[in-house]
Amino acid sequence: MNLEELDKQFVLGTYARNYTNFVKGVGSTLYDDKGSDYIDFASGIGVNSVGHGNPQLTKAICEQAGKIIHISNLQVIEPQVKLAQRIVELSGYDMAIFFANSGAEANEGAIKIARKYGETKFDNKRYKVITLEHSFHGRTITTVKATGQESFHTANFSPYPDGFSYVKSIADLYGSIDDETVAVLIELVQGEGGVEPFDRDEIQRLAKYLKDNDILLIVDEVQTGVYRTGQFLASNLYDIEPDIVTLAKGLGGGLPIGAVMTSYKDIFVAGDHGSTFGGNYLSTTAGLSVLSILSEMDGSGELKERLIYFEEKLKNIADKYQNIFDREVGIGFMRGLRAKDAQTVTNILNATINHGLIVLKAGRNTVRFLPSMTITKDEIDEGFKRFEKALNSI
Ligand SMILES: *Cc1c(COP(=O)(O)O)cnc(C)c1O
Repeated sequence: MNLEELDKQFVLGTYARNYTNFVKGVGSTLYDDKGSDYIDFASGIGVNSVGHGNPQLTKAICEQAGKIIHISNLQVIEPQVKLAQRIVELSGYDMAIFFANSGAEANEGAIKIARKYGETKFDNKRYKVITLEHSFHGRTITTVKATGQESFHTANFSPYPDGFSYVKSIADLYGSIDDETVAVLIELVQGEGGVEPFDRDEIQRLAKYLKDNDILLIVDEVQTGVYRTGQFLASNLYDIEPDIVTLAKGLGGGLPIGAVMTSYKDIFVAGDHGSTFGGNYLSTTAGLSVLSILSEMDGSGELKERLIYFEEKLKNIADKYQNIFDREVGIGFMRGLRAKDAQTVTNILNATINHGLIVLKAGRNTVRFLPSMTITKDEIDEGFKRFEKALNSI
């Protein structure tokens, strides 16, 4: 049996998969088992933040794997403590961190923090969390319910936990808050929803209103965090101080890791929450290496330079192909081209892979770009050259 047949027989069919078999990656170039190369503008959905085969990250992981991979959270874990310190320093927030293994788990932690805050801080029980339509917060039963897309709440997996409601816009949030509302959970740029950044003033006004009314602001930075928007956190870019922030995708450079950080540093006591794998030696060592690489690029201005170069190229495409795209959306290394309709996006995705380029879809009709932050100018040039060829072929 070939790989596709084996996959279909032995792996549960939760993904509409493409069957190109990648065997190696160097920077933002991937190679399949036939030796063909592909420019990677997706970085594993924003995960491979420092590219494939990054020498510094590979060395850190290999050295750590040879020493200790895992003990347990019953012992102190040196790279976990150091990574927590580094994340807090880079964020500029006075917070403490819990480590998990994924974005959904980080958001579960955030919801638990909010629920405990709501239970212990007020006379009445406050437990309701408001999220936005088109949001995405994960695939566990609770985070799928927190996700503001009705299509995700199928009866197949019901019943779902109570206490989640959705609003169409930031402006609509105010009217749906009641005396049982404990938190608002938002992405500042909806990744899966269509790569549309929210307005800065509108977010600042919301943050202030929530603070004044003792309602927690949870920012889901699973996709926007770790320099994706050009700053360490999108919350830094929006100049707000959330109560809770979640991270995952880009933090481990490909190793599974999630994190929830909060300014309520004493909210959890021993026994309130936990994880077997969360924050183990290997994933947190990877996180330290990723942050060392990216913070250095940030400090030297290199990150900004690449980001601007990518942005200019993308704007040129948007200008040149107005017959296909309405406009360019997004921020930093989180970009999209809004196509006229959904079928066009499907056609583009099929054409790009055939022309040696990997891009993503977002929302109904957006072509999404999440390149690695270490992508070179040559790779950006080559990627857009292939993108144009793909566009001209449809
Ligand atoms: C990907 C994503 C998640 C879920 O992360 P997993 O690691 O797949 O559980 C949650 N929130 C946002 C904003 C995401 O982009």
